[in-house]
Amino acid sequence: MKKGKLIYEGKAKRVYETDNPDLLIQEFKDDATAFDAKKRGTIKNKGVCNNEISARLFGLLDCRGVPTHFVKLLSAREMLVKRLEIVPVEVTIRNVVAGGMARMFGLEEGTTLCPPVLEYHYKNDALGDPLMNEYHIFALKLAEERELKTIAKYSFEINRILSKFFDERNLKLIDFKLEFGRHRGKILLGDEISPDTCRLWDKATNKKLDKDRFRRDLGNIEEAYQEVLHRVLG
Ligand code: UDP
Repeated sequence: MKKGKLIYEGKAKRVYETDNPDLLIQEFKDDATAFDAKKRGTIKNKGVCNNEISARLFGLLDCRGVPTHFVKLLSAREMLVKRLEIVPVEVTIRNVVAGGMARMFGLEEGTTLCPPVLEYHYKNDALGDPLMNEYHIFALKLAEERELKTIAKYSFEINRILSKFFDERNLKLIDFKLEFGRHRGKILLGDEISPDTCRLWDKATNKKLDKDRFRRDLGNIEEAYQEVLHRVLG
């Protein structure tokens, strides 16, 4: 597969065209940002871990009937994906209170949420990804009603599949963020699923094994990503 023109460079990934207009190459970088890119750094080999972790999880979801943009791994940092027209809505699912939800509602981190909470955020860095609801999404024409129904159904299904998968590997899936897009008229899961986009706590000790180690200067960041990779592939 020929690597073509760079069409997008984000905080953690680069996206390239290929000789097939339907397919793109997604390359994972070691760069890390937090707090609307006010904090910047590098996490050694993060790109390699996130590429492999995402590939494994996308493969699992595809097998279980949740369609994703993943096609195949190409190299340590690259995967081949289907080209999506991204729906500019980030979906967050929360099983346990942490981060933004703890701040917004004055709740203690670690409180279990039953049933899990689904949130929509407008994918707009300049505005700080504001929280939004279905009415905002329809009024702003970001997605159609039937598309959002599919997105919400897939998101809860992904939560069920991944919570069980991580639980079997002694990890608690606290919360995570998903992005979806359109491909040939179908909604597919896009972006990545990794310790950059999920909160994962060790089941026995509650040790944070995700990007919060970078956000909160907790140390042993590289080791945490390696540990998740090890458990996911193990
Ligand atoms: N998240 C993400 N990208 C974002 C914001 C959040 O991947 O731009 C993930 C984050 O890693 C966590 C979940 O979404 O697993 C919920 O994040 P929260 O809204 O609590 O974000 P915070 O305010 O802590 O950044």
